[in-house]
Amino acid sequence: MTIPDVTARGPALPGLPGGAGLPGGAGLPGGAGLPGGTQAGAATPDAGALPQPQSSGFSPESARQDIPILRRTVNGHPLVWLDNGATTQKPRQVIEALGAFYGAANSNIHRGAHTMAREATEMYEAGRAAVAGFLGAGSPDDIVFVRGTTEAINLVAQSWGRANLGPGDDILVAVLEHHSDIVPWQLIAKETRARVVPIPLTPQGAIDQDAYADLLSSRTQLVAVSHASNVLGTVPPVKEMTALAHRYGAKVLVDGAQAVAHFPVDVRDLDADFYAFSGHKLFAPTGIGALYAKPEILEAMRPWQGGGNMIDTVDFARTTFAPVPRLLEAGTGHISGVVGLLAALNWFTSFDRDAVAAYESALMTYAQQALATVPGLEVLGSAPERIAVLTFTLAGHDPAGVADWLDRDGIAIRAGHHCAQPALAHYGLESAARASLALYNTSEEVDQLVASLRRLQAAPKPAG
Ligand code: PLP
Repeated sequence: MTIPDVTARGPALPGLPGGAGLPGGAGLPGGAGLPGGTQAGAATPDAGALPQPQSSGFSPESARQDIPILRRTVNGHPLVWLDNGATTQKPRQVIEALGAFYGAANSNIHRGAHTMAREATEMYEAGRAAVAGFLGAGSPDDIVFVRGTTEAINLVAQSWGRANLGPGDDILVAVLEHHSDIVPWQLIAKETRARVVPIPLTPQGAIDQDAYADLLSSRTQLVAVSHASNVLGTVPPVKEMTALAHRYGAKVLVDGAQAVAHFPVDVRDLDADFYAFSGHKLFAPTGIGALYAKPEILEAMRPWQGGGNMIDTVDFARTTFAPVPRLLEAGTGHISGVVGLLAALNWFTSFDRDAVAAYESALMTYAQQALATVPGLEVLGSAPERIAVLTFTLAGHDPAGVADWLDRDGIAIRAGHHCAQPALAHYGLESAARASLALYNTSEEVDQLVASLRRLQAAPKPAG
């Protein structure tokens, strides 16, 4: 199967020789053996005519046309990708940028006095500038490239945390955090004899703001909070929480892994000290992400890994270091990842972001209403501000069985603890099913999810 040729959108990748086309018009590796299959028409749930998501000036078709994988089939059905919280699918523009880089522009960066090294360096730094613009940072120098959110948080814990935490200090961590925003703090707390203090949730799955205010004290050095929860969808009032933390002199790290693909982010408006995200949840390749830090904090940060790229001169008597952000980027970076991230940002920001957010919000409301028609289905979390993440339980079925059933209909959701065991424990659960939506999902796909779940509930239960 070759990647269908669809209409280009957004500016071509700057500086790529030969334009953005894949050299030689290559298709997916080895023809990919993607199973064909008949088109199964959209099934309608027995929910009566639910009001369709209102047009918001954004059509999901304009995004779908760019995502080749959405044309494949799974188990004989058109793919319905509702696992966007785990990773997003990639637009053709990103896939082509990777092919074009390796086909025509591959080189290491920063080192080497040849044309291609210079071109690759320019692309890499264009990626840094694009990330800075995307997050509303003041300068590209405020952006450190990392593997993803997990590495960004570990970097802060190991570099800033090791220098700034000590016995008796508190790190406040919201109960809804992903494990990658809990465990790095536990590790550094153990070494520095600081404490990790959970900020409790309300029954609705919001962060309990009264409890948060009570927990803050002069001992608080850091508050770690997600801009959007991957399991409850909760969007906490991060700006207000940050302002409160700053009154106590604490720093705030915002985990933006689930936020960046859903609503516009402005790190300076939030006044966040640190902001982390993963490219693969933002239509870019895996293995690339970014950490923003306020310049004055970044300047004071120590290296956390040593190697090439992060030094100025090396001598057995004395080594001198490169300035940030390179100081924190030891070794060869994920150059093609940055090229893909740049293409993803170009693609994503070519849409009207407010219109996308409004569309997703309408789709979320539609999905909530449609899921409510499935007997025995309960959605976790009802915080006032939420992204389109629907984590649910289905009476009589374990979540893995639900995911397996849906997979037979070509519908991909996630089941398990979602790397957020404390958040699930808040609801007395160890596991749940999760459908997480993106801008390219449609109400027809929600209908297919609901119809499949209703069929599961209606199916005869195995004896015994
Ligand atoms: N934080 C949140 C809220 C997440 O949802 C995830 C991944 O699901 C992560 C952090 C970790 O991201 P990554 O595995 O890309 O580092």
